[in-house]
Amino acid sequence: MRRTCVIGAGPSGLAASKVLAARKVPFDCFEAGSQLGGLWRYGNDNGMSGVYASLHANISKESMSFSSLAMPEDGPVFPHHSKVLAYLEDYATTFDLHRHIAFGAEVTSVRPLDEGGWEVVHRRRGDASTQAVPRCYTDVVVANGHHWDPRLPDPAIPGTETFEGSAVHSHDYRSPEPYAGRRVLVIGMGNSGCEIAAEISRTAERTYLSARSPAHVFPKMLLGRPADHLVRSPPAALPRFIKGPAMALLLRLTRGAPAHYGLAEPAHGPLAAHPSTSDELLVQLARGAVTPKPGVSLFGRDTATFTDGSRESVDAVVYATGYSISFPFLSPSVFAAPSGRTELYLRTVPPRLAGLYFMGLAQPSGVAFPLLEPQAEWIADLIEGTVALPTPEEMARAIARERRHHARTYVPTYRHGIEIDVRAYGKALRRELRAGRRRARGALPAPPAGPPPPRNPADAQSAEALHGAGSELGST
Ligand SMILES: Cc1cc2nc3c(=O)[nH]c(=O)nc-3n(C[C@H](O)[C@H](O)[C@H](O)COP(=O)(O)OP(=O)(O)OC[C@H]3O[C@@H](n4cnc5c(N)ncnc54)[C@H](O)[C@@H]3O)c2cc1C
Repeated sequence: MRRTCVIGAGPSGLAASKVLAARKVPFDCFEAGSQLGGLWRYGNDNGMSGVYASLHANISKESMSFSSLAMPEDGPVFPHHSKVLAYLEDYATTFDLHRHIAFGAEVTSVRPLDEGGWEVVHRRRGDASTQAVPRCYTDVVVANGHHWDPRLPDPAIPGTETFEGSAVHSHDYRSPEPYAGRRVLVIGMGNSGCEIAAEISRTAERTYLSARSPAHVFPKMLLGRPADHLVRSPPAALPRFIKGPAMALLLRLTRGAPAHYGLAEPAHGPLAAHPSTSDELLVQLARGAVTPKPGVSLFGRDTATFTDGSRESVDAVVYATGYSISFPFLSPSVFAAPSGRTELYLRTVPPRLAGLYFMGLAQPSGVAFPLLEPQAEWIADLIEGTVALPTPEEMARAIARERRHHARTYVPTYRHGIEIDVRAYGKALRRELRAGRRRARGALPAPPAGPPPPRNPADAQSAEALHGAGSELGST
């Protein structure tokens, strides 16, 4: 008898649970925290939420809604985190999901079994003295999130150990009060860095925003609509060589040149990186409340020196330097995401680990939750056997092909390792569904049945080296 384990009850795990419950696929969902919502639960007792008090979604409510349940129409365009959490609670109640979730249950080990299937071990979170409980599952859906394991500069910036001021990662930033009247350096120009620098600058004595390479800063509204709506508008279907310059022009017309704000011109086009959206940063830059800086080359006791040779007095640092993708319950010899890249077919299926699936590891610009249910539906199809996968070799070739496309499309940084184009991804998923149905009916070759062979660590490298892919295979 098949039984599935879902790890995590954040947005990804909830979407997986909703789909499996609707199809009556037997499953258990383990959630480390005592309540659902993942990152969106402020102060989550799982210790994994980096949400700060004033945080609002950086994309609109339409882009934060699952396909099967819209966010309330009368709510704000960019909901506060408390409203996103209320929505997730509503989603779980609407689809009666609470009864499937074991709360306070941290999965500590997921191990492939020789005879096929997976052994999953869980225990009460943070309580090493409680007895770990092993259970066997035919399928495991990993939905543990990828924004909880803070990444710091590696190697550390020279002089880091001599700096005597306060230093936190943005994961631990909650409010601007501790920074009032201080000289603060925020490192990193992703969404968190931009928004936190803008917020701190209202009361700090000085605020510096440092980025090794400058980012495009998008306003939240473009042409009178939430900027993320552009992702779903007809022009988004245009080829990238038209869309890229068109977006650059649109930004120039609405926001003006980066130089107006003292920002350097980014070396890449606006679509080559995950967008940093912050109207408030642009205003605070224009007011001189935030001073942009290049990368930090050296820390002193109470100073930071920058790569342009300038030096500033600093007494607090916020590292908005992103997150590592981690799976502490999986041996790295089974699965890992080195350099922020995952070896996953359509960002979901590891080619040689039958019965293991990953949710939410595709990072699109301008849309998030709407992708999760279609991904969960595909996983449920695979579990039920109504679709079949290509062979592991074909999947590895498709991943390698996608990697080459990715390298041509996005800046080569850790942060962009799982970046996707949402339209291309949706298309590839639909194509794979059609091909998978044909494979399941026997019209196309399916992979050999049997237990998942233990993963050969060399697979990750070999996929890089493979070329070409079966014509029916999707590519993101
Ligand atoms: C500051 C910040 C702002 C963001 N803003 C936006 C935004 O505006 N819009 C947007 O779409 N996205 C935003 N994101 C991205 C965010 O990651 C996603 O919105 C979403 O929360 C991802 O859902 P998830 O379920 O994959 O992960 P999470 O929300 O992180 O949930 C993962 C769940 O898995 C559980 N878990 C983890 N490990 C285990 C284990 N071993 N055993 C049991 N349970 C486990 C955790 O307790 C958690 O509940 C933001 C991220 C950050 C850091």
